[in-house]
Amino acid sequence: MSYPKVILKPGKEQSLQRFHPWVFSGAIKRIDGTPSEGETVEVLSANMDFLGIGHYHSGSISVRILSFKNETIDDNFWGQKLQDALNLRQSLRLYPNPNTTIFRLVHGEGDNLPGLIVDIYGETAVIQCHSVGMYLHKETIAQQIINLFGGRIKGVYDKSSGTLPMREKYNPTDGFIAGTGNLSGIYEEYGNKFWVSWSEGQKTGFFIDQRENRRLLQEYSKGLKVLNTFGYTGGFSVFAMRGDASQVITVDSSEKAIALSTQNIEENFGNTHKHKAIAIDTFEYLRTTNETFDLIILDPPAFAKHHDALRNALQAYKRLNLAAIRKLNPGGILFTFSCSQVVSRVDFRNAVFSASAISGREVSILHQLTQPADHPINIYHPEGEYLKGLVLRVK
Ligand code: SAH
Repeated sequence: MSYPKVILKPGKEQSLQRFHPWVFSGAIKRIDGTPSEGETVEVLSANMDFLGIGHYHSGSISVRILSFKNETIDDNFWGQKLQDALNLRQSLRLYPNPNTTIFRLVHGEGDNLPGLIVDIYGETAVIQCHSVGMYLHKETIAQQIINLFGGRIKGVYDKSSGTLPMREKYNPTDGFIAGTGNLSGIYEEYGNKFWVSWSEGQKTGFFIDQRENRRLLQEYSKGLKVLNTFGYTGGFSVFAMRGDASQVITVDSSEKAIALSTQNIEENFGNTHKHKAIAIDTFEYLRTTNETFDLIILDPPAFAKHHDALRNALQAYKRLNLAAIRKLNPGGILFTFSCSQVVSRVDFRNAVFSASAISGREVSILHQLTQPADHPINIYHPEGEYLKGLVLRVK
């Protein structure tokens, strides 16, 4: 199969030869043919040596590489890539696993499928396209997912309406694109039950990336008074309760999230006086409460989505962490996170360092946390490492 050809400037082939999966527009010398948005193209060096095949896009990232081999992008190609992704999850014991029916099957560049996210909730796969190229192939991908699971996945739901670039042009609407199923359901993480709605929830419905960190939190929780801020579905709260915390308070600014966290606690522990959920801004709560805690979780949304917002974001992380440290009892534990892609591990640690220094408390790092193995980071694409966490002990 012959694809339109993107020819790079001399010297610009090096990053592709090191398997970096993006071609920036500035690296291109010329294009033979007129590829449309999302079309599959072949990338060649200035000497016309083959470098890779990928999806063409307008914008600063011109090509997202699908393969560094000279192959045809057909049903078989998608089937193989998805099989490879599933093999990894099987080796991680995430599938099949009756105690954990929520996991990520495809994590974009980390699974060598740039622009594609696929999350599994029991019998439903939810896909999110972050590139037009993937969006144009979504039906093929969905069918290959159904084939891959041999009947165990009954429907593939497309939730690209919030993530697809050029939405005015493609006008994406969410819905099932292969098979069928419900819009929500109850699924498990380490045996804990969570109500997940892919049609209404944030991301694909659940923050799957915190699974291993919640599990670690469970180990710390026995007998502690726990504050879970930015709690959303109450993921950390459920694990704290499972770990036998003496009291758990969930805080989120969204009434809907607070209702969801209450529902999830009830689903797992029935009606319990140990859990309280409050709809309030975290900064305001920390400023106004008279209570102190043995363990606090800070898992805010990304404070910086772009580089120009970095300085303000770091200030916000510093303020938030300082406010939390001040509410910790002596010997207290802080689980603190940043999911901003543009905030590096070092930046984040410096912000937490500043907060610690201002607090005047002795602080040590117990764990350095990241995203779980079903959110792999392509070593040639370090931008994929977005989740950073620290567990601190505050004297
Ligand atoms: N920790 C959660 C995920 C957090 S997502 C989990 O494990 O699933 C971020 C959450 O922060 C969202 O639910 C959003 O409603 C909430 N949020 C955003 N800004 C907030 C603020 N200023 N105060 C409190 N909650 C906020």
